[in-house]
Amino acid sequence: MKEPEVIKVDSDADQVMCDGGGGPLGHPQVWYSFDGKCEVSCHYCGRKFIKSA
Ligand SMILES: [Zn+2]
Repeated sequence: MKEPEVIKVDSDADQVMCDGGGGPLGHPQVWYSFDGKCEVSCHYCGRKFIKSA
């Protein structure tokens, strides 16, 4: 298993979408809300979404 990817997102984003990047490693499209935090991790693929400062 490879290291989880880290995806930078705009600091004003409220939600992020993840589909695992598509292809064989992809997963169903899911949305995550930051819900006041500055990072969220995808439950499917482990990608981390971090708000840029
Ligand atoms: Zn994912």
